[in-house]
Amino acid sequence: MADRDGVIWFDGEMVPWREAKTHVLTHTLHYGMGVFEGVRAYKAEQGTSIFRLKEHTNRLFDSAHIMNMTIPFSKDEINEAQRAAVRENNLPSAYLRPMVFFGSEGMGLRASNLKVHVIVAAWEWGAYMGAEALERGIKVRTSSYTRHHVNISMTRAKANGHYINSMLALQEALSGGADEAMLLDPEGYVAEGSGENIFLVKDGVIYTPELTACLNGITRNTIFHLAEDLGLKVVEKRITRDEVYIADEAFFTGTAAEVTPIREVDGRIIGCGSRGPVSTRLQQLYFDTVHGRNAKHLEWLTPVR
Ligand code: PMP
Repeated sequence: MADRDGVIWFDGEMVPWREAKTHVLTHTLHYGMGVFEGVRAYKAEQGTSIFRLKEHTNRLFDSAHIMNMTIPFSKDEINEAQRAAVRENNLPSAYLRPMVFFGSEGMGLRASNLKVHVIVAAWEWGAYMGAEALERGIKVRTSSYTRHHVNISMTRAKANGHYINSMLALQEALSGGADEAMLLDPEGYVAEGSGENIFLVKDGVIYTPELTACLNGITRNTIFHLAEDLGLKVVEKRITRDEVYIADEAFFTGTAAEVTPIREVDGRIIGCGSRGPVSTRLQQLYFDTVHGRNAKHLEWLTPVR
């Protein structure tokens, strides 16, 4: 990953990819206090465009605010950095990684006067779980790891350290022969995947967990709008794992995962055991939207040129 051509935006300047380095005493590397985003740019009808750039940047600043980190750039500057990262790497489509981290000015939890740094990297990244997953759906296992409690680590923030929990859950799922984990909240209700929000469909209504133990996903929000456009009702509520077992359809959403159908959970086939009709419509509309083919939501696309 580190050994490639291209440039990375680093504290206001484009630096060669291989030289975008930081010291081993970088505070965030030791304690995980940092925040980041995952953003995608698509090859749209109007030219390469970043999807929901403003919302991702707003969430980055919210995450930093929650973690008491002051980003030394404006939102406009970070938006421009993301456009430039795609443009200057000549990427027709891209995954973008803005990240905010503490420098190496001090060590220990009591360190003060730490400098806040920001990077934006961009690279080509296809379907997160492979093209087949988008069509056939994936196998999911309920995790033995509990998702964060709101008073342990704050789920509104997309914080680096939160992903220890995600990685443990994902490793467990993969080693058990599944493609992704479904994490439950501290009370045992369905929260989300390791890097995705979860939805189910039952009797024509779409359900998703409330925002207590899951990230406020931007794709989740996109699905709310697209479902409404299709005349479908979305209800946020507590969901139990057996409700997922007997759902007609289930799917994950995320910037990386896009709209990934779930075909099996804990050895139980979900609905038809493949991508269901509601998931198919939403996935199609999602891809039309990110590629600039949905006239109703062109405001979500920011061209990089
Ligand atoms: N939950 C978690 C834990 C995630 O990491 C992500 C990916 N950012 C999501 C949900 C989905 O969020 P979004 O749709 O904004 O990418």
